[in-house]
Amino acid sequence: MRRRKVHRNRILRCPMCGSTRIELAAGLITGQVYHCLACQYVGSLVLEVDVDDEGRPLP
Ligand SMILES: [Zn+2]
Repeated sequence: MRRRKVHRNRILRCPMCGSTRIELAAGLITGQVYHCLACQYVGSLVLEVDVDDEGRPLP
């Protein structure tokens, strides 16, 4: 029995370098701040990308 069930996972992508190595730096009063491990970008603006179970971007 085979099932093809696609789960949509939402990952975060750096707006500066495009890396998905994003971690949540801090939860401040003003909102969440993200930290890019690749380029050291820190900010509240990140891109959200829908991917499937294998991490491939969905259209
Ligand atoms: Zn980056």
